[in-house]
Amino acid sequence: MKLKRQAAVLGLIIAADLCLAAGLFLMVQRRWEEGKTAGGGFAVASAGEVVEPGVVALTFDDGPNKKYTETLLDGLKARDVKASFFLIGECIEGNEAIVERMEKEGHLIGVHCMYHTDLTKEAEADALKQLEDTGSLIESITGKRPEYVRPPFGSWNDALRERVSMEPVFWNVDSVDWKLKNTSRIVKKVMKDTKDGDIILMHDEFATSVEAALQIIDNLLANGYTFVTVDELTVD
Ligand code: ZN
Repeated sequence: MKLKRQAAVLGLIIAADLCLAAGLFLMVQRRWEEGKTAGGGFAVASAGEVVEPGVVALTFDDGPNKKYTETLLDGLKARDVKASFFLIGECIEGNEAIVERMEKEGHLIGVHCMYHTDLTKEAEADALKQLEDTGSLIESITGKRPEYVRPPFGSWNDALRERVSMEPVFWNVDSVDWKLKNTSRIVKKVMKDTKDGDIILMHDEFATSVEAALQIIDNLLANGYTFVTVDELTVD
């Protein structure tokens, strides 16, 4: 008898939970439909309440690249999108005009390194020299000392944090473009992983990366995103 009553109570609890779940599902579905119809994107949450559209920063490492960077710059210009470039010092020679164009067209230019090594595995003086020399090279072209650094492999440590005045910039979304080398797979991965406030890591040294970047921009713009440079995302 006691067991029967317990079973009945349990049944009631389960039924109540199911009702709650169904109610929640309907609520979420309605919000989704509202978001889709109002304004055609996802920027409007409910009547009268306008949500800030998402912002993202596209970042490109390992340039400037003689073959691909200018195609990317053309595509960015056509879409009026600004990106952040982290340059390799030893790639700058002979590509000064590309760096000049990045600056002129409003992109952020930061330091990647001189020789693409893991800076935390080098003697501190050598690591500092790599960053210093790359910064000077960029400054000699743009007239501006870079304020941001993207450490190769994201490798950074306390000693470098203390000695380097540039702000390190990491990433939230890794396109893995250097490995995938397939435009649609890169686009798919980035579109799946990206959310508001993210920093996307790409490399302007492959045709597939440049093609993918431009498709990603078109998709995110259509979803109401705004592109910013990393200095606009990092708040200190
Ligand atoms: Zn790199």
